[in-house]
Amino acid sequence: MQVFYTGAEWQKNWLHALQSHKIIGFVPTMGALHEGHLDLIRNSKKSSDITVVSIFVNPIQFNNQEDFDKYPVLIQQDLKLLEKENVDFVFMPKLETMYPEKPSISIQFGELETILEGEFRPGHFSGVGIIVSKLFHIIRPHQAFFGQKDLQQVAVIKRLVADLSFPVEIITVPTRREEDGLALSSRNLRLNSEERAKSLILYKSLCSAKNELLEGTNWLEVRNQIQQRFEEEPLAKLEYFELVETEKFTVMNSFDSSQKASICVAAYIGNIRLIDNLPINP
Ligand code: AMP
Repeated sequence: MQVFYTGAEWQKNWLHALQSHKIIGFVPTMGALHEGHLDLIRNSKKSSDITVVSIFVNPIQFNNQEDFDKYPVLIQQDLKLLEKENVDFVFMPKLETMYPEKPSISIQFGELETILEGEFRPGHFSGVGIIVSKLFHIIRPHQAFFGQKDLQQVAVIKRLVADLSFPVEIITVPTRREEDGLALSSRNLRLNSEERAKSLILYKSLCSAKNELLEGTNWLEVRNQIQQRFEEEPLAKLEYFELVETEKFTVMNSFDSSQKASICVAAYIGNIRLIDNLPINP
């Protein structure tokens, strides 16, 4: 496994030699790796010849300074996991390499950034769009792997790739969960044991809402019940619970079984913000 720190190193030593005859798969991450990240890597290893993983906690996608300051950093542990997965290359740029200066541009995603994550995390998707564009320019992958766990992010990246004609295929990988259903997330490391127990409210709400919908209950009624459930749990604070069309990520006000739909949730458990989603008709 080869670790590199700048785009110049990658391009001079490896990219030019590999690009013409190897499929390069790319998995961008912010580190504190877990089995969800490893699923993306395993998918890349299966469908590409070379797998590059990046680890970079991107400051410009955090709209909350405390969230950035407390984001877990576990470099040595991450490198061991990546070595075990036989990853070919790891890109670990320094902050000043990625941002010698604060970027002067921002990227707007229209409707997509006024709803759900876009509404509650102003500027987040611009930060995601800028870092992913920079990483794509540096690594120049043929394929890139993203988790369904961040469903709106997948829609944003697909728009980015389409709008800017990046020659990259975007591949989505299903959400990896703990046995009790909690979606794996680097932020779960920050939950204390009481919060960890209460965090199940996200997955349980998604499951019961899905069942209700499939039994024919009206979506707005389903959502009311879930909002009620969150109000009764003092450690949890619901930000949104929405039904969306899965591909284009548009908000739906009623369930239409002829369309692919997913339910998305964001909530604070104590001070930790968690998100999750569940496809209804995959
Ligand atoms: P992050 O390090 O949180 O920026 O995530 C890096 C990538 O891993 C993103 O594409 C995420 O959607 C994906 N990811 C995070 N958690 C999971 C999970 N539980 N299952 C599958 N993919 C995930």
